[in-house]
Amino acid sequence: MIMMLTVVGSANMDMVVNAPRQPKIGESIHGSGFFISPGGKGANQAVACAKMGAETYFMGKVGGDVFGDKLKQNLTDLHVLTEYVRTGGSTGVALITVVDGDNYIVCDAGGNMELTADEILADKNQLLKSDAVLLQFEIPMDVNEKIIDVCRGKTLIFLNPAPAAAINKQMLNGLDFFTPNETEAPYYTGITINNLPDAYKSLDALRSMGVRYPLITLGENGAAYFNGQINTHTEAFKVAAVDTTAAGDTFSGALACMVADGRTMDDAVKFASAAAAISVTRPGAQNAIPTYAEVMDFIKNR
Ligand code: ADP
Repeated sequence: MIMMLTVVGSANMDMVVNAPRQPKIGESIHGSGFFISPGGKGANQAVACAKMGAETYFMGKVGGDVFGDKLKQNLTDLHVLTEYVRTGGSTGVALITVVDGDNYIVCDAGGNMELTADEILADKNQLLKSDAVLLQFEIPMDVNEKIIDVCRGKTLIFLNPAPAAAINKQMLNGLDFFTPNETEAPYYTGITINNLPDAYKSLDALRSMGVRYPLITLGENGAAYFNGQINTHTEAFKVAAVDTTAAGDTFSGALACMVADGRTMDDAVKFASAAAAISVTRPGAQNAIPTYAEVMDFIKNR
């Protein structure tokens, strides 16, 4: 696989600690099992693309602090190219306290939300020479809008609209791929999804707004998508799920790689479903994402 992909988006450091209970105001209690774990939808999708074998660039902003350095080093270790990563503000973090399996989370997006359209447009040649550009909603909306304006009709754009956010619907007009999950989709279409016909209605609504290839992921129920001719559906692979954290990001990265590689939409969706299914059988986020060879093995053995 020799294509080049660019992901513009977020990188975060998760800081996780177990606690016996929530501390009271002003109280400090002993926790255990502390670990840090790189995340952020943008960085996760970039790692997914790199693991599929694509030449992958990540564009975003991390803090000029120890966590920013660590996030960049981690991306480099996972074969994501980081020369377009800017430094500013503090590194995006999620402070996660786990009490009896429940998470208490405080996020500070930090530098992720300080990325500017001018900064990205300064590197627009990188976007335009990519086979595909991947976007999500963890950076300022106007940055995504500008990227789409510049790239529309010139390079394939994959927009994974997560977390759900208010958009100018004009953004969808002429967009190549728009891939919400089933809880995000109603935010853009107004259609609640309870069954496959609802999902197909949602695909039609997205197409009427100008999306060329809408796709809605349905968790363990697979994915519904327009394949260029008809609305269709693929089942999820049956696996024992242990942690679904990066399923959507794995799916997004794998889908973009396969489409950019010239696979049919049906083949690309099947491959992305297999990649995501493997990721849910493993704990963690980026380290749960399989390689291209692992996905091919998985499909062969089914
Ligand atoms: P998100 O992580 O964005 O919420 P989904 O939960 O819809 O996204 O999952 C994305 C894709 O991951 C699904 O379309 C499916 O292919 C795969 N997937 C998710 N959960 C499972 C599961 N329990 N078993 C197998 N595949 C799954």
